[in-house]
Amino acid sequence: MEYNTFERCDRMDIFCKIINGEIPSYTIYEDEVVKVFLDVNPDVNGHTLIVPKKHILDIYDMDKETLNHIFEITKKIDKLLREKLKAEGLTLVQNNGLLQEVKHFHLHLKPQYSQKQTLKKVEDVYKELTN
Ligand code: AMP
Repeated sequence: MEYNTFERCDRMDIFCKIINGEIPSYTIYEDEVVKVFLDVNPDVNGHTLIVPKKHILDIYDMDKETLNHIFEITKKIDKLLREKLKAEGLTLVQNNGLLQEVKHFHLHLKPQYSQKQTLKKVEDVYKELTN
């Protein structure tokens, strides 16, 4: 699936800025449709966000094609989290409305671990995932 330039992020929210390369991110995967980067304020080691490159506000604004792609990429990232971080499961969270802090659709991927984890620096988790 390809988007024309005008369909890409053109709002001023923080995720549009990340997508447009205006601010840095710990990006672990990227294609024409999504950017996948680590949450800077993680709940758990490997807390990841999958964000569509075109500006989609929330679930009500979401199209089936993009959603389908997001779920395909979710499975791919889950494999990476299992392989590199030894995660043993995955929780998906997606806020709409009141609890949605960033007004640009994003799916939270929160890996699960059987052993209690100490929260590492995001930079160190990034290195583990990309080495
Ligand atoms: P939500 O409450 O579902 O809108 O979640 C927004 C998430 O975005 C939070 O978990 C934040 O920690 C995360 N976040 C905010 N700014 C950034 C950023 N610059 N890079 C990565 N994650 C971010």
